[in-house]
Amino acid sequence: MPTGKIIKSLSGFYYVQSEGQVYPCKGRGNFRKKKITPVVGDDVTFDKDENNEGYILEIKERKNEFVRPPIANVDQAIIVASVAEPEFKPLLLDRFLVLVEAKSLSPIIVFTKTDLLDDASMEQMEEYKSVYESLGYTVVWGSSKIEHSLEELAHHLADHTSLIAGQSGVGKSSILNALKPTLNLETNDISKSLGRGKHTTRHVELIEMYGGLVADTPGFSSLELNEIELDELPDCFPEMRKYGEHCKFRMCLHHKEPKCAVKQAVEDGDIASFRYEDYLQFFEEIQTRKPRY
Ligand code: GDP
Ligand code: ZN
Repeated sequence: MPTGKIIKSLSGFYYVQSEGQVYPCKGRGNFRKKKITPVVGDDVTFDKDENNEGYILEIKERKNEFVRPPIANVDQAIIVASVAEPEFKPLLLDRFLVLVEAKSLSPIIVFTKTDLLDDASMEQMEEYKSVYESLGYTVVWGSSKIEHSLEELAHHLADHTSLIAGQSGVGKSSILNALKPTLNLETNDISKSLGRGKHTTRHVELIEMYGGLVADTPGFSSLELNEIELDELPDCFPEMRKYGEHCKFRMCLHHKEPKCAVKQAVEDGDIASFRYEDYLQFFEEIQTRKPRY
């Protein structure tokens, strides 16, 4: 039986991509009894008749799934942060990183709008870049206004399914348009701010780009840390995973505990203090949230 991946879902059809071809399919398989609905990103087995009309027979087990947008089997998140307009806010990037880490996705950080950088802010952004790189994250520069400037990002797309994320206005749609001009996504210039593009519910679609697939709708629209428990938070910070092994208490939350190797590393300058402050901010936020029933 052929296998493929659902790249689009529209008007009752699931568009399954298999070996370079796309087959419109209906859902027919066993999964319907289990009340599982196919979503974009699903790996499926399907069958097709002589008119190339297909039927999905089986949905393979999902590696992960998201509700907004509805998509499964995402490998990596492209987190877009602009270096200017809006100005770079490490707290916001760290929030995206925590959400991405909590979903076990690998992040790629894109510092965009680099055409707007002056020398002074360039130096500061270089410093931030080296902090994030020292944590093991991939960081790339790019501007959708400079030709070829997104080539490094493009290299990271191959063989992966990626979801783009980032604050509104940082240039997510512009990046996708620059990578694939035929895509023609609305950007924030006029129509989006009038509420047309941004608020219409659009179906997510996986777009082929540079040998990989990228969702055309941004993920992580809610930035609340609702699904993260306090004891999971340290695991969302690579530097805490590293230094936390040397804390006196095995379950140390690096907050008020004595003999905490993380706090020591902050004091010694081995952990960037802004990262630790952001950690404390998220810590408070999770600690004070109302219990969910
Ligand atoms: P989104 O909300 O994250 O999708 O952001 P958009 O792609 O809609 O871009 C928001 C605004 O930033 C638009 O006016 C874009 O023209 C502008 N913009 C996007 N990328 C760049 C860039 O690399 N450099 C500059 N100077 N402006 C950009
Ligand atoms: Zn500790």
